[in-house]
Amino acid sequence: MAEESSDHNSIQNLKGVGPKSAASLNNLGIFTIPDAAFHLPFRYEDRSFITSISEANYQTPVLIEGEIMKSTVVFRGRRMLFSEIYDGTGRLTMRMFNFAMAQHKALEEGKMIRCFGTITPGPNGKQMIHPQYQVFEKEDSIEVEKNLTPIYPTTSGLQQNKLKKIIESSLEFCDKNNLLKEESENRQYSEYGNLLETLKFLHKPPVETNMSELIEGKHPAQQSLIKEELIAHMLCAGILKNELEGRKGPLMKDNSSYQATFLSSLPFNLTNAQKRVWEEIREDLIADVPMRRLLQGDVGSGKTLIGALAALHAKSNNWQTALLCPTEILAEQHFSSFKGWFENIGIKVCLLTGSTKSKERKLIIEDLEKGNIDILIGTHAIFQLGIKFHKLGLTIIDEQHRFGVHQRFSMLEKGGVNNQSPHQLIMTATPIPRTLAMTVYGSLETSIIDELPPGRNPVQTSSRPDSYRDRVIKRVEEVCLTGKRAYWVCTLIEDSDELEAQSAEELYKEISDSLPKLKVGLVHGRLKKDKKDSVIEKFRNGEIQLLVCTTVIEVGVDVPEATLMIIENPERLGLSQLHQLRGRVGRKANTDSHCLLLHKEPLSNLAEERIKTMESTNDGFEIAEKDLELRGAGDIYGLRQSGLMDLKIANPIRDSDLLIAAQNEALELGKNEKEFAKTLVERWIGNRVDYSDS
Ligand code: ADP
Ligand code: MG
Repeated sequence: MAEESSDHNSIQNLKGVGPKSAASLNNLGIFTIPDAAFHLPFRYEDRSFITSISEANYQTPVLIEGEIMKSTVVFRGRRMLFSEIYDGTGRLTMRMFNFAMAQHKALEEGKMIRCFGTITPGPNGKQMIHPQYQVFEKEDSIEVEKNLTPIYPTTSGLQQNKLKKIIESSLEFCDKNNLLKEESENRQYSEYGNLLETLKFLHKPPVETNMSELIEGKHPAQQSLIKEELIAHMLCAGILKNELEGRKGPLMKDNSSYQATFLSSLPFNLTNAQKRVWEEIREDLIADVPMRRLLQGDVGSGKTLIGALAALHAKSNNWQTALLCPTEILAEQHFSSFKGWFENIGIKVCLLTGSTKSKERKLIIEDLEKGNIDILIGTHAIFQLGIKFHKLGLTIIDEQHRFGVHQRFSMLEKGGVNNQSPHQLIMTATPIPRTLAMTVYGSLETSIIDELPPGRNPVQTSSRPDSYRDRVIKRVEEVCLTGKRAYWVCTLIEDSDELEAQSAEELYKEISDSLPKLKVGLVHGRLKKDKKDSVIEKFRNGEIQLLVCTTVIEVGVDVPEATLMIIENPERLGLSQLHQLRGRVGRKANTDSHCLLLHKEPLSNLAEERIKTMESTNDGFEIAEKDLELRGAGDIYGLRQSGLMDLKIANPIRDSDLLIAAQNEALELGKNEKEFAKTLVERWIGNRVDYSDS
């Protein structure tokens, strides 16, 4: 990570945050102390009153308190801990599967216990499985919460309570250091006070606050934040545009000496969408302002080729091109495509990644500076090495679907010659819904490849409940025995490599035991790169017919012969992620592919809606739009993590009713309160550049 760790505001400088928690916080998109203040709860619990056991209903979570009558550990297939609780009105059994012996000891007969959880019907009447609890002495008492209890989205290695404490101290820190307090001269922030006060309110709303309003993101306190965030993004887009004004782009005349040769060497013709998009880009390149263009196209739509045409155009005019990728695998893939296309027409392509040996690296850097290299392909991280180009005319960034966009454009401002800014093209496989593009990217030009190469049949998607599991396994066997290849994807709720690896291994065992006739392989995030590569290679050449895997295959695995995908527990994944995963099949021309969503029952309404969407469409834009629509307040965090966008709180689909007001205010502020406008951009977007280390 290239974070400003020396920065006073860095999250590592907060009391109680060590390197380990800092890493987990970074995973949540929290790098600075104010970032933590913006990490809002995704739901709340009401622990402000105690319910008697006899009156407690099933389904809604309740707080109960009583005496521990008995605690026993029993074996019924697995080890379980039962504690019986009595509160004078009724009995309740607390049941746990994962526990330490110390916990058993602490749950001592005669002590008092307070539990928060959902009551379900159990073998001995009411029970709570793995509730949150506190044990205390009979003569003591503990107070109930005065506010709604916030529940935050978190990640492995960071417990809810720890995160809560960190957020509390970040709010104090901001208070002491007068952060997040400036207000516009002309407008009151909200009825809760300035931004910081409004954030504090949302971290700890009083119990009488309307909870469903909060969940839907419609509470006035949220609305003021959302509006300000939208304004900040609109301002940022404007600032980016102003900065570019007056800058010259690298001069590239319409000189396409190599293009015809290259295109005629390809075994296919460009699709109409590719032709149209290339025309849009070519026009940008021959104009004398620097290009800032976002190229969107679904996985497999042929973006790389468009990047190649742009690089070729730059070379024809004696400019160098840099192609940056989020991962080494992708950089290697592009390198091998570009080499195949270009080497025999005398264009020099080089690869520079974290794995490049230092001797070779030195040579490449020298050659680059001398202008002996035409196209440099590498990971984002190479740009931090302070390498110099002889004449950099074009930067292409292949985002896949991982990074924000504003930062990408601004981080690359350097690198031009004589006050010229290189042309920039960002390629992304995440279709960004139009409303979002307008809000967040404002003036950014976009090109869309909305057509797949001919012969690609849309993946046929269907769903089955888990009770069909045995039948599905049989079916997979039949399909694989006809020579086809299949993925079996295992998903996990928690964001933990280790647990995920564990359940992938269990699944692998189950499947390979029940299908002795098939060669089954396994890949997950915990495998060494060599091992992973070799399994994937075997899957590619058919030695392995069924690949059990985790979502690690989401990016960069390209095996066209794989035409079937089973996704287990698809209800755990967001729509965009499901769509990305499904993109691994359906890559072979004139071949039908299938995706089967094998889900648990019962499904929540939300999960059901997601699965229906997957069954009904393959259109990435429609899916992205639906994805936003289905996300509640606080769930925006998932989008932030996936890099789909840089928004902290706003959801441009849900909050579309605020767009016009925000636009008007942005114009007003941009004109009349320039300083405050800058503050807003700094506050919501910042100048952090968040490279992935790859
Ligand atoms: P993505 O948009 O996901 O980056 P790629 O550029 O990797 O897609 O293209 C996917 C595959 O389609 C590649 O094997 C590429 O060579 C092939 N391809 C690209 N354009 C065409 C086309 N017009 N006709 C047929 N195949 C194409
Ligand atoms: Mg690609």
